[in-house]
Amino acid sequence: MNKPITASDEVQRFVFEPHAVRGHWVQIEDAWRELRIHTRYPAPIERLLGEALSAAVLLAATLKFRGTLTFQLQSSGPLRLLVAQCTHDFKVRAVARCDEPAMAALGGDAGLPVLAGPDARITVTIEADERNTRYQGIVPLAGDSLAQCLEAYFAGSEQLPTRVVLASDATRAAGLLIQKLPGAGEGEDTPDAQAWAEAQLAIGTVTPAQLLRSRAQPLLSQTFPGQDLRLFTGSAVAFECRCNPQRVAGVLRALGAGEIRDVLREQGAVTVTCEFCQRPFRYDAIDIEALFTEGPEPGATPAVH
Ligand SMILES: [Zn+2]
Repeated sequence: MNKPITASDEVQRFVFEPHAVRGHWVQIEDAWRELRIHTRYPAPIERLLGEALSAAVLLAATLKFRGTLTFQLQSSGPLRLLVAQCTHDFKVRAVARCDEPAMAALGGDAGLPVLAGPDARITVTIEADERNTRYQGIVPLAGDSLAQCLEAYFAGSEQLPTRVVLASDATRAAGLLIQKLPGAGEGEDTPDAQAWAEAQLAIGTVTPAQLLRSRAQPLLSQTFPGQDLRLFTGSAVAFECRCNPQRVAGVLRALGAGEIRDVLREQGAVTVTCEFCQRPFRYDAIDIEALFTEGPEPGATPAVH
């Protein structure tokens, strides 16, 4: 019997020595299970959510920032919303919303073009911790997979030729990315160009099963056997939701006293459930009055319109 793979959520960087080609590998098991504990998704939605989660980690590993990166897809198709977040230190959370009757009408499996529809919009947003800055990039809807969308994003926004494979099943989410860095010898006959051409062909042969079952070392030596690869120490990926009573209070204040008091009258209390981790935040009449008489929280940032 094969030895079971140790459950270890990890993202690892590697370089093709001595070439200006680099890559990242990610595999997520525990966090993938934890973030779905309270939610059941239809299989095609779950698969895309796992791919989006892997995509968010690969983006976070590749881009330089301190804060939170959000990979988000919105559409009027059966898949309404897909959100995967990853911080600079690889704390992840993710959630999807779909149109249940439309999903049921689809019946069996369906791919991204059918689930997302023609008007889908994918964005990558980075909220930086320190300076309260925000960067948003549009991800072109390219091809028929999230991996191809990600490749188009890197080609456009980052000007980096990139190849990506993503996979997800009930147990794991995984991804592999390779990039040709700027400064690589230009021209078709340079050793860098040759290494890049070979790497692109090789990554095209990786199957979802390999991606989901193999750890970085065996996967990379099997996929790129002729290359001198240097694999760096990995970073742990973990599920963590950053919801807290202060944030929820902020949301309620933004909705306004009138609307919140209406809910209170109808239901006797106001309960807000975090859509990422399903943690409930309950406010009774006294809590609500305190919320609207306290005035703005100390240090709260005023909303900018
Ligand atoms: Zn939460």
